[in-house]
Amino acid sequence: MFVIARSLFSCLLLCSAAGAMAQSLPPVRFLLTFDDGPSLWTESPTVKILQQLAHNPVMPGVKALFFVQAVHKDHGGSDAGRSLMQDTCLQGHVLGLHSGSPRGHIPHPRFSAAELAESLLVGDAAIEAQCPGAVQFVRPPDWIYNDATLAAYKAAHIEMVQADISVNDGKIYGWNISLRRRSHLHNGLEKVAQARLAGQLPEVDGVLPVIVALHDTNRYTAEHMTEYLHMLVEESAAVDLPVASGPFYADAPSLSRAAHVRAQKQLYVCAGAALSTPIAVRFGLVAGDPKKDCF
Ligand SMILES: [Zn+2]
Repeated sequence: MFVIARSLFSCLLLCSAAGAMAQSLPPVRFLLTFDDGPSLWTESPTVKILQQLAHNPVMPGVKALFFVQAVHKDHGGSDAGRSLMQDTCLQGHVLGLHSGSPRGHIPHPRFSAAELAESLLVGDAAIEAQCPGAVQFVRPPDWIYNDATLAAYKAAHIEMVQADISVNDGKIYGWNISLRRRSHLHNGLEKVAQARLAGQLPEVDGVLPVIVALHDTNRYTAEHMTEYLHMLVEESAAVDLPVASGPFYADAPSLSRAAHVRAQKQLYVCAGAALSTPIAVRFGLVAGDPKKDCF
């Protein structure tokens, strides 16, 4: 009896200590990022996403970070694409570089040093022509990088930003509806909640920024952007992950500060493997560390 009472007592102490610590940790705020755009599909997915970020019942006026293919003819390298980049900027979002090559969405390690350096310069200039101010952030195509590409980013004064959770909308098939998207987000947010309790997420301006990866070229994402906003907040509650009263970023300067701190630390919440890990490494076909850059 005494043993049971003693165990209960220690559990009460430990549990309340853990609870108190969880309470004292800052809440998270989601930093939404979109890759691959601007999208010129006739369904106007980028436009639809911008509209829903501005007007939605979860938090009107959400600002996001758009990693663009700045000079490809089907994206930023066309009049319509340039106009979309300008609109995105005028609406208060931040533009970052995904690809600055007219050849398009090619993993940066495949470029020669000279071609990569040139593409970073050209891409940045194309973005700055539509959105004044130096480009601060890059997310490489397929999220693949190595020491040489990191050195090239540094020389170009841009910081790489990867992500903590993805809505898994990067691969666009004819059938691009993810029936498991809610449970996928739930699992990702569970990992975020664990990282928060372990004190691994850095605090910026009183919150813990959590980077979410989406694609504005995905028409399903564009049709369901508001639903994703709901899901992020609802599934956070379901895994006891406290979210700031403003669950998403509302202005470019604080979004950029958060992205900068995460880029400096270069560690992310990963489930089985880093989101940036190439498939061949995940399956053990090629040597590499699948947990590189994970907390
Ligand atoms: Zn991409």
